[in-house]
Amino acid sequence: MTKALVCKACKKEIKDKDELVTANHYLQVIPLHHDCFDKDDRGVMATLFSNHRLNGWTGYCSFIIMVIIGFVLFFTIDHFIRYIPLCFIILEIYYRIISYFKYERYFTNHISNNHHV
Ligand SMILES: [Zn+2]
Repeated sequence: MTKALVCKACKKEIKDKDELVTANHYLQVIPLHHDCFDKDDRGVMATLFSNHRLNGWTGYCSFIIMVIIGFVLFFTIDHFIRYIPLCFIILEIYYRIISYFKYERYFTNHISNNHHV
């Protein structure tokens, strides 16, 4: 049995894929309710640049934009600082993988299991 996904903000179970928001927080990926993320976003976490949404449409868009900008910077800057955007890309890919395998896949498995029954 997979254990229930619990929202880091309100400590209640996240029951639906549409409710799930994954965000990065100090090198960790945390699951939140959509509503809790919105509330959080206006609060303390919003002041931290590192905290942003990972899953869903906005997550994919910012991921793609970040990767493109990162690679453009990497290939245009002729200096050792070109590795900084590269580190950001690696970090973003790492977050996405964790987000997918830890949380998003949880619901994907549930849906595919239901189809077999
Ligand atoms: Zn919550």
